[in-house]
Amino acid sequence: MNFRELGLEERLLEGIDAMGYETATPVQAQVIQPILAGRDIIASAQTGTGKTAAFLLPIVHKMLTQQHSSHHINALIIVPTRELAIQIAETMEGLSYFTDISCIAVYGGGDGNSFTAEKKALSSGVDMVVCTPGRMIAHLNMGYVKMQEVKYLVLDEADRMLDMGFNDDIMKIISFLPKQRQNLLFSATMPSKMRDLARKLLQNPAEINIAVSKPPEQIVQQAFVVYEPQKIPLIKYVLNNSDYTRVIIFCSKKQNVKQLSSELKRAKFSVEEIHSDLLQDKREQVMQDFRNRKLKILVATDILSRGIDIEEIELVINYDVPNDGEDYIHRIGRTARAATSGTAITFISEAEQRKFAQIETLLGKQVDKLIVPEQFGAAPEYAPRSHKPMGNRRPNQGGGNRPSLRPNKPRPNNSRPSNQGPNNQTNP
Ligand code: AMP
Repeated sequence: MNFRELGLEERLLEGIDAMGYETATPVQAQVIQPILAGRDIIASAQTGTGKTAAFLLPIVHKMLTQQHSSHHINALIIVPTRELAIQIAETMEGLSYFTDISCIAVYGGGDGNSFTAEKKALSSGVDMVVCTPGRMIAHLNMGYVKMQEVKYLVLDEADRMLDMGFNDDIMKIISFLPKQRQNLLFSATMPSKMRDLARKLLQNPAEINIAVSKPPEQIVQQAFVVYEPQKIPLIKYVLNNSDYTRVIIFCSKKQNVKQLSSELKRAKFSVEEIHSDLLQDKREQVMQDFRNRKLKILVATDILSRGIDIEEIELVINYDVPNDGEDYIHRIGRTARAATSGTAITFISEAEQRKFAQIETLLGKQVDKLIVPEQFGAAPEYAPRSHKPMGNRRPNQGGGNRPSLRPNKPRPNNSRPSNQGPNNQTNP
């Protein structure tokens, strides 16, 4: 589902575009409409599923299209940690870039200056506040926070907040809010204490359950951490140095499918492409040739990541990091079907590192990072916390997403699994 179909405001669509989101993730597809319709929500969705935009977009849309009180807080988002508060405020900055909706993150641990800045925003009025409970209570106790116009309350990672003992703080903050408001509750898990909280807070909520499946154990998951221009040469190397007979390579964008497939054809690989620009007849022909083993390699968009059932695919390559954990699991699930084993290798550029780290969080484990062979030059370190995702860059910041290959510099070893020395290159 694309965002235009969801009926979102034009300025938000521009922000979504600038963030590089193309289609709504499953949680977004399920949650945005009921929120737009004014329903309370209880959603079980983990980090990495796109849940932040799932609540930010409809709230901002409603602020833009319905009467909203400036100089008052309209939306209050309560989260367990300052990191999450900062991350949500950053996502908000990107999505609302073309609007005049304001947002501030209010969290503990800063200096006196940040408290004063928060106090100023909270007393003069800011449209949206993303806060941790303790810090918000510190401000509320001083009496200047304008809560009487809050129309939207979000509790994000609510299970974590309860685990951290924030129940009383949350209830105290809520006691300052008007009774008439829309409540959205997001939680990775739904223990009984969460149900109790939901019963207290929500009225006739829409229930959304984004169950994230886990990939089959027998899939060997690996990744190369690379600069964008290293991807195609390294894919050729992987294909040349292995004897896989059935390979699918996924790319998020059609133009990447076309470019990669034409480069592989030029290098004489047995390859065809599949994407929505192809006529149905041609698509069927390509699929048939792949099933009949006339073709060894398919380069495809995500149209092929769900539903197709071709057995004995030995290798899935992710040319890029999929948009969310579910897509990743669907893509790599094309291999190791029917209890056979299979390998999935993901190519992670610098701009994609954070996205991949979120997928690893969802998987509950780190994927092994393979060593980039010497002849491809130095590769980046895997340091997802220090790489901003493309999506969070301001639209006009420029800078391009294709870092050029840097001249040879010593290979960073600290990002590699400890059992892989520099000469112990795992042959993919
Ligand atoms: P979240 O679960 O909200 O922490 O989001 C996980 C990651 O997915 C973040 O890096 C978001 O910027 C990204 N994201 C959210 N929605 C989309 C989308 N529709 N398409 C692509 N990326 C998205």
